[in-house]
Amino acid sequence: MKPTIYDLTYEQLEAWMLENGEKKFRAQQIWNWLYIQQVAEFAEMNNISKVLIEKLEAAFILSPLTQNVLQASSDGTRKYLFALNDGTLIETVLMPHKYGNSVCVTTQVGCNIGCSFCASGTLRKQRDLTAGEIMAQVMLVQRDLNTLEGEAQRVSHIVIMGIGEPFDNYDNFMDFIRIVNHPKGLAIGARHITVSTSGIVPKIRQFADEGIQVNLAISLHAPNDELRSSVMKINNAYPIPELMDAVRYYIAKTNRRITFEYIMMRGVNDQIIHARQLVKLVRGMNAYINLIPFNAVDEHGYQRSTKEDVSAFFDYLKKEKIQVMVRREFGHDIDAACGQLRAKKLESE
Ligand code: SF4
Repeated sequence: MKPTIYDLTYEQLEAWMLENGEKKFRAQQIWNWLYIQQVAEFAEMNNISKVLIEKLEAAFILSPLTQNVLQASSDGTRKYLFALNDGTLIETVLMPHKYGNSVCVTTQVGCNIGCSFCASGTLRKQRDLTAGEIMAQVMLVQRDLNTLEGEAQRVSHIVIMGIGEPFDNYDNFMDFIRIVNHPKGLAIGARHITVSTSGIVPKIRQFADEGIQVNLAISLHAPNDELRSSVMKINNAYPIPELMDAVRYYIAKTNRRITFEYIMMRGVNDQIIHARQLVKLVRGMNAYINLIPFNAVDEHGYQRSTKEDVSAFFDYLKKEKIQVMVRREFGHDIDAACGQLRAKKLESE
């Protein structure tokens, strides 16, 4: 199967041009067609010679995705189920904010981390996505935005929080960042990109050393090892003290604030005793806690925390001068939990 041209970083495309007897500057023209004009076919690149178009068509496909299902929520959230060339399915979500449009991308087909509260964790990883398969999600959402009525809208933010563990697909995920961030392409600023990890400690350290300004979020979800290991198996490999050491390394190296994601599950991790433990863990750190109301996934039996428990937890952290917010929910009327749409589709098949 031919790779997608979206797989190539700008520098790789320049090298490809030279290897194929073309001038290096052609890379800029092609990049412009891909990311500024946002064409769907090579043949639409009308200032490119027929010979080069043929070479490109022989070597690459353009989009490796086809849209399978689209769910649109009354709050503007749009959820896409895409089929890859090998027939596997992935999900992508567009979330409109006051400050811009954010796209949540998937990085793997399935996931091996196996968090017990996650719809995707029930479907083992089949394979990693390539950089271009991640990039194509952004491009298809952008093209969908181009079809909406009203003012022109652009994808302005990326969150790498969809299905999969990006740090388990590190090289492709990093190439994706280089492509989406490139000034000659979509040019989405590093500070507008957030990657979330379940806590793969060596990769957190490696990421800290990359010298880029991308935001990092850690899926913490529990304030002690016993509880965290029971909801996230990854904690057995990288327990909380090791994780926190890596986080401190990241903060020292990058001088950037870190976000801890904390999904609130009724009676599991949402009591004041947990809030107290959480305060101890993060006190003095340049950190932000994101409390996330649990989005019910039928088969796991976890439930949403009550509003009262969420408020009491939030107030406790505030009182302790911890930076905290409760995440706004998106797409309440569609299958909004990560992996739900894909899980449903596979079930129905
Ligand atoms: S929450 Fe993320 S890391 Fe955990 S199983 Fe689901 S997709 Fe994988």
